[in-house]
Amino acid sequence: MARYIGPVCKLCRREEKKLFLKGAKCTSPKCPIEKRSFPPGQHGRNRRFKVSEYGTQLREKQKMRRIYGLLESQFENTYKKALRIKGVTGENLLKLLERRLDNIVYRLGFAPSRNAARQLVRHRHFTVNNRLVDIPSYLVKAGDVIQVREKSRKLEIIHGAMRKIREGKLFPWLDLNKANMTGTVLDVPGRADIPTEVNEALIVELYSK
Ligand code: SF4
Repeated sequence: MARYIGPVCKLCRREEKKLFLKGAKCTSPKCPIEKRSFPPGQHGRNRRFKVSEYGTQLREKQKMRRIYGLLESQFENTYKKALRIKGVTGENLLKLLERRLDNIVYRLGFAPSRNAARQLVRHRHFTVNNRLVDIPSYLVKAGDVIQVREKSRKLEIIHGAMRKIREGKLFPWLDLNKANMTGTVLDVPGRADIPTEVNEALIVELYSK
């Protein structure tokens, strides 16, 4: 599946916000946002124009898309799926993104970033309910059990990420058993349980135009 392979720190600088796309570097003083929290490019530092309503909605959409690491078409398809589900479209969109296997692997602390999680899933290091799943966009559901495969349990990238995470209920809908390298999806998350700082209503407004 296609994915963005350009410089990721530029994406944070474009949004003028930490999007935590690079794992450990994001919480270290090496994070470029610490020194240059203005958009990249020759005129980035001096941009001082008023952002239009459309611009605000567009930036919010780009921010959410970049946080979850989706390309434009993948994001749009997820939005279309959210539209078909009963309820508030913005929340449905966020819930669908949260339920992606690569996101869950990242949230459970098996990978330092969503990018790394996506690659680990692709490289067949996880099972869902004892069955191998190598599709990052696979949607997990309540009751699913995600486990690091037996042969992958010595991978340093997984251990390094797990050292930074505590045992137990990481989020109201996720439970981690470190010894078994197993995570359980207790429930489908509600909006209040999702810590992603985006205004999903702006994205719905953008797509409704
Ligand atoms: Fe963003 Fe992380 Fe790069 Fe900082 S280090 S700019 S938070 S991706």
